[in-house]
Amino acid sequence: VNGRNIWKNNLSKSIEIINKIKSKISHDKLIISSSCSLLHSPVDLNKEEGINHKIKDWLSFSDQKLKEIVFLQNYFNSNLLKDSMFLLNNIKANKTRKISKLIHNQRIKNKLKLISSKLLNRKNKYTTRKETQKNLNLPLFPTTTIGSFPQTQKVRKARLRFKRKEISKNNYENFLKSETKKAIKFQENIGIDVLVHGEFERNDMVEYFGEQLDGFIFTKFGWVQSYGSRCVKPPIIYGDINRNTQMTIKWSKYAQSLTKKIVKGMLTGPVTILQWSFVRDDQSRELTCKQIALALRDEVLDLEKIGLKIIQIDEPALREGLPLRKSDWNSYLNWAIDSFKIASSSVNDGTQIHTHMCYGEFEDILDSIEKLDADVISIETSRSNMELLDSFKNYKYPNSIGPGVYDIHSPRVPTVNEMKNLLNQAQKYINKEKIWVNPDCGLKTRGWPEVKQSLKSMVAVAKSLR
Ligand code: GLN
Ligand code: ZN
Repeated sequence: VNGRNIWKNNLSKSIEIINKIKSKISHDKLIISSSCSLLHSPVDLNKEEGINHKIKDWLSFSDQKLKEIVFLQNYFNSNLLKDSMFLLNNIKANKTRKISKLIHNQRIKNKLKLISSKLLNRKNKYTTRKETQKNLNLPLFPTTTIGSFPQTQKVRKARLRFKRKEISKNNYENFLKSETKKAIKFQENIGIDVLVHGEFERNDMVEYFGEQLDGFIFTKFGWVQSYGSRCVKPPIIYGDINRNTQMTIKWSKYAQSLTKKIVKGMLTGPVTILQWSFVRDDQSRELTCKQIALALRDEVLDLEKIGLKIIQIDEPALREGLPLRKSDWNSYLNWAIDSFKIASSSVNDGTQIHTHMCYGEFEDILDSIEKLDADVISIETSRSNMELLDSFKNYKYPNSIGPGVYDIHSPRVPTVNEMKNLLNQAQKYINKEKIWVNPDCGLKTRGWPEVKQSLKSMVAVAKSLR
C-alpha cells in the first residue's frame, strides 16, 4: 500500500504481489505494511464532505490505507474474503476511475502530442533578445521584488470573510484593489524599477492556480507535514489539466493600469505546481507536468497580449523534484526543463522572462538552469554571503541574475552597508551589466514596517552603485 499518495490502493495488484512473495517467504515471516510512514498522507478521507463523491471513491487517506492493510492481512488469513464487498468495491472504483470522463480530456491529450521543438524554444537566442530588451529602458542594477507583499491579518481576514460569504465578491475585490493600489504607489514612491502587483489575491502560490484549472480538487482537512512544524494542504491533481479561464490577467492588468512603470506578471511554474500537489498516478508525472505547462503557456501569452513587458515564472521546487537516484536525474531534468520552456517560450524577443528559485545550491544543475533560458533568474544568496555565486562564475552563466541581497525569513531590516557589500561581492562573480537587485524571496510573511525600510535601503544601494 503506497504510503505517499492519496489514491485508493489496487487491492488485486497487492494480492498478486503478496502471492508472489508468499511463494518465496514463509507465511509466518511475512509482514504487510504501507510502503513508508503515513506522514505524507492526510489523516481521514471521511472528514471530507465537499469532494465530488465519484472522485472521493478513488481516494484513500491514512485511515483508509490502514483499513486496506488490515484487509490484506485478513484476506490471506481466511478464505472468506475472496468475494467480500470491500474487495469488490475496490475493484470497481479502480475500474471506474480508469475510464471516467472526469479524468480524460481528448483535446488536451491531442495538444500534448503536438509539442514540437517549436513550442520549446524562444524565437531567438538570449544575446539577440537582450538587444531587443534594451527597449525596456532599465538602469544598471535594476531593482525589483520577488512578487508577494505582506499577507497581513487584514488581507487574510478579508479572504476568510469572502469564503464564508460574509462579504460580497465585489466588496472583496474592491478591498484587494485598494491593497494592490497601495503597493503600486509605495513601489513608485520609493523608486523600484520593475513593480509587482503584490499577490494579495493569492491564498497560496499553487492553490491559487489549481483552483482555476480543471483537473484539480481541494480538501478541507488534508494537511501533511512540510518541514518542522509547518504543514501544507496540497491540492489533488486527479485529471487532465485544462485552462478554462484566465487566471492572473485581471490583477496584472489592473496593476499595470495604475502606473507607467513596468509591472511584472507573476506565475507559478509547472514543475512547482506539480511538485507541491498530490499527483495522479495513472500517467507519468512528465505528462501531467506538461499539461500544466500548456495551460500556463496560454496565460503567458495573454499577459503579453495585455502589454506586460516582463513575466516571472517561479520554480522554487525545481530542485527538490530531483529523484533520489542520480541515474534518474537526467530524465527528470529533461522533462522539467521542457515543461518550463513550454510555459515560457511563446513570447516575443522583447518580452523578458524571469524565473525565481528560493535556494542557491546550483553547482550540480547549473547546465539545467541555463537550459531554462530565462532572461533573468533570481536566487537566494544573502545568507551565504554570495559564495554560491562562485559556481555561476566558473560556469559562465550567460543570462542575468538577481542574487537576493537580503534574507526575508527574518524581520530584521538589513543595513545599506551590508547590502552594498553583498553586491560588491556579487560583482566579483557576475558582470555588473547582468546583476539585478532584489530580496531573497517574496515578502508575504513579513510586515509592512520592515518591508518599507528594507526596500527603501535596497533602492538606495542600487542607486549608489549606479
Ligand atoms: N512569487 C512568490 C512570492 O513572492 C514566490 C514564492 C516562492 O518563491 N516560494 O511569494
Ligand atoms: Zn522564493
